[in-house]
Amino acid sequence: MDKYESLAFDTALSTLVAVLVYVLLKVSVDGYRQWRARAKVLIVGSGPVGLTAALIAARSRKVQRLVLVEERSRTALLARPQQIALDPSSVRFLLQLGVDFDNMEGCWQNEHFFTKVGVFQEYLLSMLEQKRQQQVDIRIQLGTKFTEEYLKKIPTSDLPRVIVVCDGSCGGSSSVLGITSDYIVESCNAYGANAAIERADQRQVPTPEIRAHSLYFDLSAYGMEFASATKEVHSLQPSALKPGSHLKIYGTFRNRYMALACPVSDSKVVKFLRHTPNSSIMKNIFHQSFNAYKTDIEPRVNDLTIHLLQCSRRLFEIMLSHRRVTAAYIEGDNVVVTIEGEAARVLNFDTGCGVNFGLKGLESLEEFIYKMATAVDQNDVFEALSQKIRHAKQLAEDFRLNGLTVTMFQ
Ligand SMILES: Cc1cc2nc3c(=O)[nH]c(=O)nc-3n(C[C@H](O)[C@H](O)[C@H](O)COP(=O)(O)OP(=O)(O)OC[C@H]3O[C@@H](n4cnc5c(N)ncnc54)[C@H](O)[C@@H]3O)c2cc1C
Repeated sequence: MDKYESLAFDTALSTLVAVLVYVLLKVSVDGYRQWRARAKVLIVGSGPVGLTAALIAARSRKVQRLVLVEERSRTALLARPQQIALDPSSVRFLLQLGVDFDNMEGCWQNEHFFTKVGVFQEYLLSMLEQKRQQQVDIRIQLGTKFTEEYLKKIPTSDLPRVIVVCDGSCGGSSSVLGITSDYIVESCNAYGANAAIERADQRQVPTPEIRAHSLYFDLSAYGMEFASATKEVHSLQPSALKPGSHLKIYGTFRNRYMALACPVSDSKVVKFLRHTPNSSIMKNIFHQSFNAYKTDIEPRVNDLTIHLLQCSRRLFEIMLSHRRVTAAYIEGDNVVVTIEGEAARVLNFDTGCGVNFGLKGLESLEEFIYKMATAVDQNDVFEALSQKIRHAKQLAEDFRLNGLTVTMFQ
């Protein structure tokens, strides 16, 4: 090797070393920055979805401070009696978050867990309180409404980086944040009706649901021609005649709910039930269906208790309303907002599994918080937002196509 070749070799080697050192330094500085990055998160609403969102945030290790604002008092929150049914996918999701179903009042059936909203909320609140003792800065503000005044009172230096709006189907927090309340309303290609029976003398403990399929209703007493039956049917009594209507009985014995649904069809019976002005027909269908499919240990609905049954007057088209804007960037304040749960998407029909739809939206929350905490520039922010928006759109589309199959038709 002559003198020039040796010089060239030395130069190349020192350049390589310099590049390597730069790359190593950059990777470790970026890694350290990402590891240290934390964001302030504000969650509005402590329903099942808001509290689960709070748990996700608290466990993400990417939150510098978590504030949870709920307008109801703790007592009002925990007294919510309605039952929720957590489906197998929600159960798996919650298990990963550390929820221990063995320590929650409820019951299992077919891998579904049935509990009361208040019980579920109390459990999650206590998990959050435990996290607070583990040095996560969590501030739970119950009895506090999220309003324009509330927002104005937050000093600019304390503004959250991420706001998760989980204020339910009647909440107005997104408009406080300047986000449009426009909804896209789409048909789920099915008709349905709901009913409720409240009986104060019955027990209020979690109870498994009952499903019945392929129901047929004899409406000949109302002038509807009765299609030929393969087995005897009593007046208005559903029987397994042909695929058609699907019934679910859910809730506690005290607050029993029923959902009746069928795929869109122009059969005579469906047309009749869609347009009849006689509201007693639906009431009779629910009355007879309840007595036919209820559990043996609960009382029948009879002439003395029929007034406790409230129901839809006729079959209506089941529609999904989902927000046009489910995530947004507030430029001036450098804040991102995501809307979750019933605040983002809701049906005009209760299937008895509403909460699962809300929890599905949260499957992308941890990654969203991570991306926002570590975002370096606006490109990162927009990428995180568009990913979240895509997930929300996909959820609505999936539900429209398959949601009722899973929750009602099988
Ligand atoms: C009668 C009935 C029966 C049901 N039965 C079932 C069932 O059997 N199975 C099932 O899975 N689901 C059932 N559901 C649906 C289930 O309750 C909902 O899907 C679930 O509660 C939605 O959760 P969420 O957290 O999105 O909203 P919500 O539970 O409505 O929670 C929203 C929270 O936000 C708070 N809030 C609103 N505005 C503000 C504000 N500005 N500032 C601060 N806080 C605010 C509210 O006080 C509330 O606590 C039933 C619902 C009803 C009404």
